[in-house]
Amino acid sequence: MDYKQHIAIVEDWPKEGIRFKDITPLMDNGKAFKSAVDEIVEYSRDKEIDIIVGPEARGFIVGCPVSYALEIGFAPVRKEGKLPRETIKVDYGLEYGKDVLTIHKDAIKPGQRVLIVDDLLATGGTIEATINLVEQLGGVVAGCAFLVELTYLDGRDKLDGYDVLTLMQY
Ligand code: 5GP
Repeated sequence: MDYKQHIAIVEDWPKEGIRFKDITPLMDNGKAFKSAVDEIVEYSRDKEIDIIVGPEARGFIVGCPVSYALEIGFAPVRKEGKLPRETIKVDYGLEYGKDVLTIHKDAIKPGQRVLIVDDLLATGGTIEATINLVEQLGGVVAGCAFLVELTYLDGRDKLDGYDVLTLMQY
């Protein structure tokens, strides 16, 4: 499917010089959204995934339907101060700023096979931090799936040795 027709490119948002890829038109199109989720589900099938991990907020939107389809759990990765119970954390840099990501300490059991899902791979800072959290808890990152990859930001360089799926590239 040609997913790119459902991506809106927003110039100079959230700040000048950024060409933001807005996935909400894709979410708005039931067939395209389902097809994209189905592709990630198919990619996961032979990977014996135990749990999906997704960073806020758009990682929830894409990751939760994948977890529903595979009938496995979903663990949220969130900014500091958002998760109510004991967490571990990691500092990270992203395309436009710096922040801290956290996950509940009991979200992943050692040895569990994890698929990380997010909407978009840019510099790779978010996925690198999310992998760090999963591995701190003893999880095995069996794959990383994204709707969109911004190849000019070289996020894949941070994913050497990991299995990666992206449905669209810019
Ligand atoms: P990275 O950490 O790889 O530099 O940036 C990826 C993260 O920032 C993802 O969680 C993604 O949601 C968000 N992000 C960065 N740029 C864009 C963009 O152009 N469109 C969307 N939808 N998300 C973006």
